[in-house]
Amino acid sequence: MRANQLPVGEVGAASPVALKELPAPTTSGLGTLIKAVVKGASEKLDLTEANIIVAGGRGLKEAANFKLLNDLADVCGATVGASRAVVDAGWVPHTIQVGQTGKTVAPSLYIAVGISGAIQHLAGMSGSKVIVAINKDANAPIFQKATYGIVGDLFEVVPAITQEFKAIL
Ligand SMILES: Cc1cc2nc3c(=O)[nH]c(=O)nc-3n(C[C@H](O)[C@H](O)[C@H](O)COP(=O)(O)OP(=O)(O)OC[C@H]3O[C@@H](n4cnc5c(N)ncnc54)[C@H](O)[C@@H]3O)c2cc1C
Repeated sequence: MRANQLPVGEVGAASPVALKELPAPTTSGLGTLIKAVVKGASEKLDLTEANIIVAGGRGLKEAANFKLLNDLADVCGATVGASRAVVDAGWVPHTIQVGQTGKTVAPSLYIAVGISGAIQHLAGMSGSKVIVAINKDANAPIFQKATYGIVGDLFEVVPAITQEFKAIL
């Protein structure tokens, strides 16, 4: 099972699930042996653990404009993700790529900024509980998956949202 892909069920009186404690298997019986867990340098949560993700795509035009997303992420406690297009362009590292050949994520809130919504990207984030898409093209495929869609220029919309969050958080 991939992390955070299944909802946590209620355990009540009527639950058919019986909890049973089992001894941990010995390492010799495991197919995988974890030798070390190395934390990344970032203080931000890893994408797969993040409750809120703000992800950017080619619509950001250039690497420096990821600052807009970092500012938004800072005010709402989010982790920044990216599409493969911008990883391939060398704007951001592969560690933050979401999708078929990146990470599979399922946060409570996924804000897709300037991302078209290619099938390979959707494969990595469509398990998100709430998806907000910001794209200037009303026909972008991401809107098919979005819970809320904002058709507009991200260079106006993202700073406006950041200001709103600053005011209420
Ligand atoms: C085998 C394979 C594996 C792949 N794996 C992945 C993967 O893991 N993850 C992944 O993401 N992709 C993956 N891809 C690539 C995928 O097919 C797309 O090419 C990629 O997701 C496109 O990235 P994008 O949405 O950032 O760029 P684009 O498709 O170029 O979309 C940019 C969007 O920005 C919008 N935009 C432009 N300017 C603005 C503005 N000012 N304001 C608002 N919106 C704007 C445009 O309308 C457009 O919708 C894979 C492809 C293949 C073939």
